[in-house]
Order: sequence, then structure tokens, then C-alpha cells
Amino acid sequence: MHERCPHCDENLIPEPGFYWGSMFVSYAFYTAYALITFWILVTGLNLDLDYYLVGLIPTLLLLTPYFFRLARRTWLSIFIKPRPHSA
Ligand SMILES: [Zn+2]
Repeated sequence: MHERCPHCDENLIPEPGFYWGSMFVSYAFYTAYALITFWILVTGLNLDLDYYLVGLIPTLLLLTPYFFRLARRTWLSIFIKPRPHSA
């Protein structure tokens, strides 16, 4: 991750340990993913719960890099508002 935004020079690491809070955002993403896929597959399509649980873990592992970055980006956007780039 860049220390400063290459476009507007915004400080992307405002303090040490700033991104620890993004773990909670990441947890919310994983929980929402598990609940939504459960609702669709098990409740909606009557998939067996065992198949759901066996399939859930590899998909969560595959989504880890995406959720990691998305959680950091979400956490940063809570505290730092984007500035319009000057032309
Ligand atoms: Zn920027």
C-alpha cells in the first residue's frame, strides 16, 4: 500500500496501527457473505447444509485478498474523505 496517494498526496497511513480497525470491517464482510450465501443456497435452493459448509471455506479463502483490500479501503474512507483532484 502506498504511504501517500500518488494523485493527491493524501497521507494514507495517518497513524501507526491505523488499519487494525479494518479487521472489524473485514469480519462484517465475511459474516455478510456467509449469511447471504446461506440464505440463497440453503434456504432458497434447499442445498444440503454439509455441502454448503464444505463449499464455504474454500470460497472464503479465495475471497480473502479481496476482502482484505476492500476492508482497508472501507476503513480509510470512513476517516479520510476523498478530495477532488485538481486538473
Ligand atoms: Zn488521492
